[in-house]
Amino acid sequence: MDQEGLMFPKTQKKRKKRMKHPRSILHEKNGTCYLCMLLDGNHKKHLLLDEHHIFGGPNRMHSEETGLKVWLCLDHHTMGTLAVHRCPDTMRLMHRIGQQEYEKTHSRQQFIEIFGKSYL
Ligand SMILES: [Zn+2]
Ligand SMILES: [Zn+2]
Repeated sequence: MDQEGLMFPKTQKKRKKRMKHPRSILHEKNGTCYLCMLLDGNHKKHLLLDEHHIFGGPNRMHSEETGLKVWLCLDHHTMGTLAVHRCPDTMRLMHRIGQQEYEKTHSRQQFIEIFGKSYL
């Protein structure tokens, strides 16, 4: 527990909207990189993985709350030519995959209400 938690018991804490942190609905955290598997069929485990939120910017928080995140090796996250943050095609691909997965359990309308538009 952090210092603040010790100093202010839970009951006195300011009530703020509790953010949900579900597991990824796309990818189990097991050392694999989502894009290594998807693009290269490579299931190798990486020592270093970054958590990537599929919808970033103002939607990053919504990605977190809906489990729309994956684990990526550094190459596929920021470093390589196909990295999701460097390659618009990879970014688009991930947006589409994320929305498709969300719509397996929700409607398109629900997706648009949260994320502002459809990527499909
Ligand atoms: Zn990778
Ligand atoms: Zn990222």
